[in-house]
Amino acid sequence: MVSRVIPVDVFDLVIFGGTGDLARRKILPGLFRRFCAGQMQPEAQIIGAARAEMDSAEYREMVADAVREFSAEGSVGDEDLAQFVERLHYVPIDARGESGWSDLVSHMRPGVVHAFYFSVAPSLFGDLAERLNIHGLTNDASRIVVEKPFGRDLESARALNRDLAAYFDESQIYRIDHYLGKETVQNLMAVRFGNMLFEPLWNSQYVDHIQITVAETVGVGGRGDYYDKSGAMRDMVQNHLMQLLCLIAMEPPSKFDPDAVRDEKLKVIRALDKMDPHHIVRGQYEASDDGPSYREAVGDPRSRTESYVAMKVGVSNWRWAGTPFYLRTGKRLKARSSEITVVFKELNHSIFGEQEDHHNVLSIRLQPNEGITLGVTIKEPGPGGMRLIDVPLDMSFAQALGDDADAPPDAYERLIMDVIRGNQTLFMRGDEVEAAWAWTDPIIKGWEERGDVPKLYESGSDGPVDAVQMLARDTRVWRKVSP
Ligand code: NAD
Repeated sequence: MVSRVIPVDVFDLVIFGGTGDLARRKILPGLFRRFCAGQMQPEAQIIGAARAEMDSAEYREMVADAVREFSAEGSVGDEDLAQFVERLHYVPIDARGESGWSDLVSHMRPGVVHAFYFSVAPSLFGDLAERLNIHGLTNDASRIVVEKPFGRDLESARALNRDLAAYFDESQIYRIDHYLGKETVQNLMAVRFGNMLFEPLWNSQYVDHIQITVAETVGVGGRGDYYDKSGAMRDMVQNHLMQLLCLIAMEPPSKFDPDAVRDEKLKVIRALDKMDPHHIVRGQYEASDDGPSYREAVGDPRSRTESYVAMKVGVSNWRWAGTPFYLRTGKRLKARSSEITVVFKELNHSIFGEQEDHHNVLSIRLQPNEGITLGVTIKEPGPGGMRLIDVPLDMSFAQALGDDADAPPDAYERLIMDVIRGNQTLFMRGDEVEAAWAWTDPIIKGWEERGDVPKLYESGSDGPVDAVQMLARDTRVWRKVSP
């Protein structure tokens, strides 16, 4: 199956922080892949802008190395790479000072899309927006892309929104949550709203509960300083898990258009119940043979920051009242796996007499092995009478779609192309982010006021036992975390 690649308009993309980790690992290799796929016009140009002093030739070398290092083995052709780096320029710049700005202005061409990717610390977002304005770069053709974290609480998120809104209209601001760029997340919407099968059952009458799991095997690694001030709630739940919850729970938008989708997501956040502290479990991983404990990793023997959180969330609206959403995310867990699972209710009556309970389960796997599986009940083959078993109807994209799906575009690739196309559907709107913080803040504040200490859990396990007990109290179990 051959997918159609439609080239995007000619653009000048400026990557502030173009020498940083994110630019080298994700943004530039992603742009290279879009270039190879024929989605970038030959006239497109990419301008790295960062603090380091170097010229464009040195930058091209740095980017070529990064693309080779962070692309799949054997996927980078020398000829393609040479052509790609010809599109690159570099401007040393100071986000807080005057140096480099006139040089940047001289690179920007009239009549093409201007995109500015803020791949720098959020403390520089306001300075960059202000300087773009001072130097006449905030015209109708310009848009900015901002990275997470978007604030650390409601107050700081509001301040960031205000700083950006001083120079840019909301329609020009693209707040990245790379989970929304994942192929399966968009497929979740296609499955829900493109089929007659699911939507009629998508409510508390038929859905017993929903689980959202984002499990990582890695620890905090070298990000200890940052992570310890943040924790799983700020780093993962407030943005990624919340966004997934919104897409699962939202009402069908009237059309697949940015504001229609984001209006519905916002309504979900506003319908979230205030959290009961008994419905949250926080955890911290212990040391193991292959790594230090959380506290050792962050260098604070008394740290109370959580590396794991599990919670039971209620959505108080007509569709979902009574159906719990169980969310969990953590580091140093047994397997790396992100999955959303919709567990349907049992049959009201079984004509087959006493058999084990059979629930239909729809699993949406985000990583690894993106795909969707629907568990259905069938008869066990053979002459042994009418015995029922559950089997998966599996839609693994790689299998179903052939070569195209072996390497679906990385989330960053898709999202950057959406920025150039001017499509904000998969980006968070300012009011959404603020609403998410407004819900998260009291939870974190409660922990701080109560001096809540996270439960310890074994590295390489499923997380704290208390999280298992939380579901057991509801006579439910977590789905197995498997790679
Ligand atoms: P980094 O520290 O590796 O790079 C920072 C970049 O900013 C460098 O290019 C540096 O030259 C530039 N910079 C710093 N001060 C500057 C100034 N005054 N003027 C101009 N340029 C300046 O950081 P990173 O890991 O690439 O992260 C960048 C942003 O992306 C951060 O907001 C981070 O939270 C976010 N983010 C990073 C990742 C990741 O995987 N690295 C993932 C998600 C979000």
